[in-house]
Amino acid sequence: MLNGRNFVAGEWRDGADWIEDINPSDVTDVVGRFVQARPSDIHDAVAAAQGAQREWAAAGLEARAAVLDAIGRELMARSKELGELLSREEGKTLPEGVGEVYRAGQFFTYFAAEALRNLGASADSVRTGVDVLTEREPLGVVAIISPWNFPIATASWKIAPALAFGNAVVWKPASITPASAWALTEIISRQAIPKGLFNLVMGSGSTIGRELAANADIQGLSFTGSGDVGSGIAALAAARFVKLQLEMGSKNPFVIMDDADIDRAVDLAVNGAFGGTGQKCTASSRLIVHRPIHDAFVEKLLAKAGALKVGHALEAGVQMGPVVSAEQLSANLDYVTLGISEGAELATGGEALDLAHRGHYMAPAVFLNGRSRMRINQEEMFAPITCVIPADDLDEAIFLANDTPYGLTAGIATRSLARATKFRHASRSGCVMVNLATAGTDYHVPFGGVRASSYGPREQGRSAVEFYTQVKTSYIHAGAAE
Ligand code: NDP
Repeated sequence: MLNGRNFVAGEWRDGADWIEDINPSDVTDVVGRFVQARPSDIHDAVAAAQGAQREWAAAGLEARAAVLDAIGRELMARSKELGELLSREEGKTLPEGVGEVYRAGQFFTYFAAEALRNLGASADSVRTGVDVLTEREPLGVVAIISPWNFPIATASWKIAPALAFGNAVVWKPASITPASAWALTEIISRQAIPKGLFNLVMGSGSTIGRELAANADIQGLSFTGSGDVGSGIAALAAARFVKLQLEMGSKNPFVIMDDADIDRAVDLAVNGAFGGTGQKCTASSRLIVHRPIHDAFVEKLLAKAGALKVGHALEAGVQMGPVVSAEQLSANLDYVTLGISEGAELATGGEALDLAHRGHYMAPAVFLNGRSRMRINQEEMFAPITCVIPADDLDEAIFLANDTPYGLTAGIATRSLARATKFRHASRSGCVMVNLATAGTDYHVPFGGVRASSYGPREQGRSAVEFYTQVKTSYIHAGAAE
């Protein structure tokens, strides 16, 4: 069993308390015990990070690139072992866990190269004899607060650019997935980095997370999680003019038009709705189906969803693991009850499952005859629940797709370039997928949403430089050469 401590000011540190990390596939399996930080750990971490950041920024591009490359390569080399740990504590299937760790490694190797590419620009001045330079500088100490559903990938797509561009990091991971956070920190702790550059502070969001967000000496705060917590954090950051980046909720639509390849559309819908047990910010939680193919699509969808093998995340052949926790399962079942009471027809799944292992299992649920303004089609459930909403034509499908407060991803299945193009232009979302699932993105291009889904500069790819650096404009008058 793992005993994980916090990493503060370059030392592994005990804390106020310990929590147990329980396997959602088998609640008799304790993955490990993890220290809970004291508020003073936040203070010590930020203080150490301030000094270390100056050293790191001065260390030079190649030193930074080499560290990031080494972290990335180790994550990729150990993706099986660490993927198993991730799946054991979070509940996604083993291939999903291994894939996530490998992808986390790719974020580090990608940003290793980006570290070398921190290019500025020069401009002619309006004043003769003056040169103008614009350069990007690190922010300083960046606080990172991350969720449990992609415990290693989300953190990596924040930590890697933060370090690449010369910042120090204080990281508060989600309490329910501490093992992945500890494992990533253990790798980072062995690198040639200044003492205190990278800090792990595990502890509850409402105390330790809040303490970090309210710290007076952080210069940037990147958060992924729920909208309620995000808006609380935004208020704290705004009060002190801290640079802010928030990734929050979603209610992603997947539109299926009558000219789509139905079998492919069904695969994409099932993958988008139930991959990661539906606990993805990019999950297809609304399936907007063109009426002419509605019945044919629904028949195949129900057959495929009903046949998904639900079980222990580490067992071969399992297609959907458990829900992350008892609380999440109970909230999901409440949404199923709500959907029925709102008049949607529960066509398959939606019940808790009693399997060989005692875990938080639920059958993937499909509602039919949904209406857009039902709460199950407006609120993020973060659950293996999706709802079919019929649409008469493309215009109605577009209206329905945009009819929530959110705008992270949106997908369409169609063979028509004209329909796909119209949808792409009209979609009020940050990412549009054509004949692809709403979930599943690359690492070298921007990721993020609009409206209530995201706030601040985009994450990932070259765009990450916008958040993790600030611009300095220098005016230089060289004078006459002697
Ligand atoms: P939460 O908002 O509950 O938690 C996110 C993080 O914030 C956790 O580390 C949590 O700590 C911490 N936290 C909680 N309360 C506070 C607080 N008052 N001050 C500071 N930090 C706090 O989200 P979940 O972890 O439950 O993640 C699920 C949510 O994340 C979903 O709504 C989902 O849409 C969203 N999400 C969005 C993504 C995107 O890119 N748009 C990607 C992935 C998820 P603790 O765990 O200790 O409570």
